[in-house]
Amino acid sequence: MTHPAQPKASHFINGAYVEDTSGTAIPVIYAATGEQIASVHAATPAIVEQALASGKAAQQAWAAMTGMERGRILRRAADIMRDRNHDLSVLETYDTGKPLQETLVADATSGADALEYFGGLAASLTGEHIQLGEDWVYTIREALGLCVGIGAWNYPTQIACWKGAPALACGNTMVFKPSEATPLCALQVAEILHEAGLPAGVFNVVQGLGDVGAALVTDPRVNKVSLTGSAPTGKKVYAAAAAGMKHVTMELGGKSPLIIFDDADIDNAVGGAINGNFYSSGQVCSNGTRVFVQKGIKEKFLARLAERVGAAVIGDPLDEATSFGPMVNEAQMNIVLGYIEKGKSEGARLICGGARCDMPGWYLQPTVFADVTDEMTIAREEIFGPVMSVLEFDSEDEVVARANATEFGLSAGVFTKDFARAHRVIGQLEAGSCFINSYNDAPVEAPFGGVKASGVGRENSKEALKHFSQVKSVYVRMGDVEAAF
Ligand code: NAD
Repeated sequence: MTHPAQPKASHFINGAYVEDTSGTAIPVIYAATGEQIASVHAATPAIVEQALASGKAAQQAWAAMTGMERGRILRRAADIMRDRNHDLSVLETYDTGKPLQETLVADATSGADALEYFGGLAASLTGEHIQLGEDWVYTIREALGLCVGIGAWNYPTQIACWKGAPALACGNTMVFKPSEATPLCALQVAEILHEAGLPAGVFNVVQGLGDVGAALVTDPRVNKVSLTGSAPTGKKVYAAAAAGMKHVTMELGGKSPLIIFDDADIDNAVGGAINGNFYSSGQVCSNGTRVFVQKGIKEKFLARLAERVGAAVIGDPLDEATSFGPMVNEAQMNIVLGYIEKGKSEGARLICGGARCDMPGWYLQPTVFADVTDEMTIAREEIFGPVMSVLEFDSEDEVVARANATEFGLSAGVFTKDFARAHRVIGQLEAGSCFINSYNDAPVEAPFGGVKASGVGRENSKEALKHFSQVKSVYVRMGDVEAAF
């Protein structure tokens, strides 16, 4: 019998499901069992062409609709997503392995928030009027044209919506390529948008690996590329986009600092560290994986942390009691196991976890290392798994310098009861998305994105609209033209 996760076809182009079985098969393996539950095919050059041509053909008519009309469709899609939250959450769990306890509140709901928020803003996209004596200039905020969205595997529904919603609100069309590791959810987003009334061709989904992404990025019809992925992929995609002088948004990886001062509320700080390291089994770009704890409370913090991590419920992701699921796939599990071994061999002190779970599927134990030093591999490289590094510090100046000593700059957090210090420290941290006495909140109203090697541009909030539109300025002369000859 066909598994319920099996999609109707691999791609969604010009308002309909499309199949081309001559493309390489991409199996979908359920991370909790290791069993294949579905299969899609990578886009062939003919499929890529069909998607780009349909996105290009649909763009002008979509941009010519009023913002109110475009927004109404996005908001209708948000309502459909919320109505189907349970089924979409189960699919997200099959796609990623993340526990239903999380997907019920973080994926389709967050996608719906983006559709509702940008749907609501679509009608208020305006230019400005600049009076210059009797002459004047007016500006028009225009769509960029055809956009390409490329996703990572940790939040397949959310990423499709975080890119699609602002792009479409501005009058762009999109071809979206999900990660080959999680190809299922973006197809549902496309289907729901069309049910809500989206014209054919405005939002298309094609499957494939990096070569399909590269073919999309280099096509001359494409005006903008928005990637969520690792920093090495980001460098390649940014360079390819630059060759065609295309706009980019790059949402890349991180190695973010979470700084806990002596005066912090210990339980809140431990909660922040848990949210910033073990949610989605650590597969979150903004995670605060370098937890700097001030000397005076370090042992107390570690003891409380070990106790609370021990309460994680590891098991069947479809059981709502489960709070910690498997890694997305075997390859990622092995990468993380390699880092755990490095942590041990480079002399970090293992507080808890440190091994694969003795059960089917790609489960790792939530792992905490203490006595981590700045030079250790686990403190320098993005692991993208449930491995927390705890580092000790003495003074504020010292921790700020050490927190900033990384190529990355996605997020940063501070826990302290001293608000003057909290703002002073956040002000000095090189990061795009910061938290005070919290960690990893990502409401659609707040700009999200990184500095340094963590990215370019911002998603969410009104900022995202600037990255999916451009300004045309028009000088209007009311009198005669003076010329030199
Ligand atoms: P990845 O870089 O391996 O792949 C990302 C996407 O890029 C995939 O869809 C892949 O097929 C595609 N791709 C690969 N090579 C390409 C090329 N040459 N041209 C065009 N497309 C190409 O990343 P991943 O392993 O899927 O995801 C994990 C990474 O994503 C982590 O580094 C994580 O930090 C990052 N991430 C960042 C954010 C953010 O918002 N900043 C969010 C989630 C994940």
